[in-house]
Amino acid sequence: MKIKFAILFAIVSMNAAAQKKKNTAHSEKYIFVSALIEKMTLDEKIGQLNLPTSGDITTGQANSSDVAKKIEEGKVGGLFNIKSVQKIKEVQKVAVEKSRLKIPLLFGMDVIHGYETTFPIPLGLSCTWDMDLIKRSAQIAAKEASADGINWTFSPMVDIARDPRWGRISEGSGEDPYLGSQIAKAMVTGYQGNLTGNHTILSCVKHFALYGAPEAGRDYNTVDMSRNRMYNEYFPPYKAAIDVGVASVMASFNEIDGIPATGNKWLMTNVLRKQWGFEGFVITDYTGISEMIDHGMGDLQQVSALALNAGIEMDMVSEGFLTTLKKSLAEDKVSLQQIDNAVRLILNAKYDLGLFQDPYKYCDESRSKSEIFTKAHRDEARKIAAQSFVLLKNTKQTLPLKKSGTIAVIGPLADAKENMAGTWSVATKQENAIALVAGIKEVVGGSAKVMYAKGSNLDDDPAYEERATMFGKTLHRDKRTKEELRNEALTIAKRADVIIAALGESAEMSGESSSRTKLEIPKVQQELLQELLKTGKPVVLVLFNGRPLILNQENETVPAILDVWFPGTEAGYAIADVLFGNENPSGKLTTTFPRSVGQIPIYYSHKNTGRPLANKNGVFEKFRSNYLDERNEPLFPFGYGLSYTTFEYSNIKLSAAKINAKETLKVSIEIANTGNFDGKEVVQLYIRDLVGSVTRPVRELKGFQKINIAKGEKQTVTFEITAEDLKFYNSELQFIAEPGAFEIFVGSNSNTDIKAKFELVN
Ligand code: BGC
Repeated sequence: MKIKFAILFAIVSMNAAAQKKKNTAHSEKYIFVSALIEKMTLDEKIGQLNLPTSGDITTGQANSSDVAKKIEEGKVGGLFNIKSVQKIKEVQKVAVEKSRLKIPLLFGMDVIHGYETTFPIPLGLSCTWDMDLIKRSAQIAAKEASADGINWTFSPMVDIARDPRWGRISEGSGEDPYLGSQIAKAMVTGYQGNLTGNHTILSCVKHFALYGAPEAGRDYNTVDMSRNRMYNEYFPPYKAAIDVGVASVMASFNEIDGIPATGNKWLMTNVLRKQWGFEGFVITDYTGISEMIDHGMGDLQQVSALALNAGIEMDMVSEGFLTTLKKSLAEDKVSLQQIDNAVRLILNAKYDLGLFQDPYKYCDESRSKSEIFTKAHRDEARKIAAQSFVLLKNTKQTLPLKKSGTIAVIGPLADAKENMAGTWSVATKQENAIALVAGIKEVVGGSAKVMYAKGSNLDDDPAYEERATMFGKTLHRDKRTKEELRNEALTIAKRADVIIAALGESAEMSGESSSRTKLEIPKVQQELLQELLKTGKPVVLVLFNGRPLILNQENETVPAILDVWFPGTEAGYAIADVLFGNENPSGKLTTTFPRSVGQIPIYYSHKNTGRPLANKNGVFEKFRSNYLDERNEPLFPFGYGLSYTTFEYSNIKLSAAKINAKETLKVSIEIANTGNFDGKEVVQLYIRDLVGSVTRPVRELKGFQKINIAKGEKQTVTFEITAEDLKFYNSELQFIAEPGAFEIFVGSNSNTDIKAKFELVN
């Protein structure tokens, strides 16, 4: 390494990992970064706060121009959306050889659910309820991304979402703050490790905050909620990421309490820094600063100053900091101390990554050849994907299927490689994915005959299908008429012993800017399914979706439904593994499936209201909280998912009837595998705080354990509950546990009626 910082770095010794936690006035990092800031001109400082896109990958509208020149001039702190280690190395070279101070760049990318080896979309991944697997997926993603030059991912997205109209529900971990917090921790620790080697990268938790609650489920729309709800239901996963040391936070696009998150000082300074003690740096989302002009917060200079004053350190794409902060400083609208502080936090991150020691630490071209999309990674992705599938229905033991006879695989998603990785898989190579037909052929080998027909396009309306195929995906629209496609499918269906219908959404019908008001499977596919059922052959619906869909008709008519979300590159193999019984499904829903769009938002941990329904049978009750034309309950509740085997719960026991704030309550339950297959079960524990100083949800998840039980065997599972688990934010936003009675529910989904009662005493 020829750069002069090498010498300075050597003097201040090398132990970056140990130092990164310590950022006191005398730490090596502090001394190093201070010395560097001393040397910087104002323009160079402002340059560090600038994050343009390279334009290699498109994740938004505007692109910066002359990026290379800006890097040379010290006007860039990091670059994102650039793919390949060779390119990154060249760009890093410009920064460390041509810019005056030779400060290395951060290289960011949306590595959301895998890099080239892709895992299920985050919503699917969350349905594994397996923190080790989720962490492992993040480790593999970090390993592949870092082998290709990336040192920073814009993941995890931990926005709680209870509105399936919102397309980005696919990118998060569902509706529950407790589960969401566990997943946030698993992802951050998976990506970052302890940042010592070059296989781990910086993580960025997003989108802070409340991005998953836009009005009407329309992306980027206004959010308005009480602080009580923010703290109890929406903030926990962000805080969990911060508690495990996430390096960066991304501001959300939406407003909070009338001020866009990007310019919201209460959020970025009071909550994030003062209450939660966050020490990393905050970036805007794509053009988050300039969008505040449209929010009606002022011109570019005003909104840029607003963002810096609120507590934002890095400006993604707007170049508002770059072009206006100098003027704002001269006019006293921002202070030099704020600029210096922002620069320090960004330089700290570069220090933590070890970039001052070796700016090419993540530019090992040999790694890019041997560590990306490897057989080992793909095998793990296949196993993980199989665990994310949720068996929604399985009557007459339709599944698992036999590996014999004639199998018709029909539907627009049956041979659709380009859709398998799902949304936000910008680094993947679509052609590498395993489509369902190919996966089935591989898994059944020569012992069954597999036939395929497309059956229909994804949607009858070509314009709609095209809109739902953006983001680098290829549109494969069949030019034949609806009737021609259907007749071809029916011809093979009639010759088959079993029909596998691969239907649902395209990858880009969920994800960013993909909100929907109708949540059924597109009509042309529903009709195809009904025609297939008329053949009288057993039909298995393999459902691809990035959000909960409305499945009333399918649930009434189809004997077996396997929800596979978007499983990633190994999709076809993983689905076939489950369909043919090599794997027993064990996924559980992390979002409630409504019966009707009119029920939205619908989530299991709702409040009781003053007029709850007395019955749960869907019978209308006047002057009670219900609908004239729909029942209150969802079609499938949170936590729900079947297995090929059956589990029986019995004998719930509490270790005490009362505990005080220092004691631990043990809750145990027996689970027997009463079916014919070995299986995994996610045992779930919920509580209800019966009386509170503020109203409390009817149920709240407080624990879960995923266990393996062999057929015919029984296991006892024990949970521990302390006062810490009973805490919530009261009306003064104090986090407290209030003495009183609690109910405990244990079972295989949030609807379980196995319960017990205990009391928390002083
Ligand atoms: C998304 C972010 C993403 C960013 C950079 C934005 O449009 O909201 O989630 O990280 O683009 O690609």
